[in-house]
Amino acid sequence: MHRVVCPGSFDPVTMGHLDIIGRAAGLYDEVIVAVLINMTKKSLFTVDERVEMLREVTARYGNVKIDRFHGLLVDFCATNGVTAVIKGLRAVSDFEYEMQMAQMNYRLARVETLFMTTNPLYSFLSSSLIKEIARYGGDVSGLVPDTVLSRLSERLAAE
Ligand code: ADP
Repeated sequence: MHRVVCPGSFDPVTMGHLDIIGRAAGLYDEVIVAVLINMTKKSLFTVDERVEMLREVTARYGNVKIDRFHGLLVDFCATNGVTAVIKGLRAVSDFEYEMQMAQMNYRLARVETLFMTTNPLYSFLSSSLIKEIARYGGDVSGLVPDTVLSRLSERLAAE
């Protein structure tokens, strides 16, 4: 069974993430989307909410599982019997950091990292930009799944 982990904050999941997850699901027997629990970083959605949104938007894929982790990604991989991580690459700016992490994860536990190039339709998308635009009333429809869109406006209205 070939499994891969797709890690990230997913605060919230965007069409860019979903594109990578869907393409990975076509290549692997199982994709585990792992939401990073980061106590120090302020997030708009709780980990439970992020997991719930991911479950909703990946429901059509029978081989995508949603999980969460804290601490080292390589430890999560070991616990789940996974030896490869898949990451989306948007621009050169992603590359430097991602290469450093990939090399460290290989050095730590021989976990491989595979990079998938972003769909050009979504190459400019990040969760933080989505939140910033939505916060100021900008239209982000089509850039996040519909369920995320309604949760975003609800959450931002309550702020
Ligand atoms: P963000 O930068 O959106 O907060 P995350 O930390 O949730 O991203 O990222 C998880 C993974 O998804 C990373 O590998 C990141 O490069 C990838 N990713 C994020 N947005 C996109 C996109 N628009 N296209 C392709 N990959 C993306």
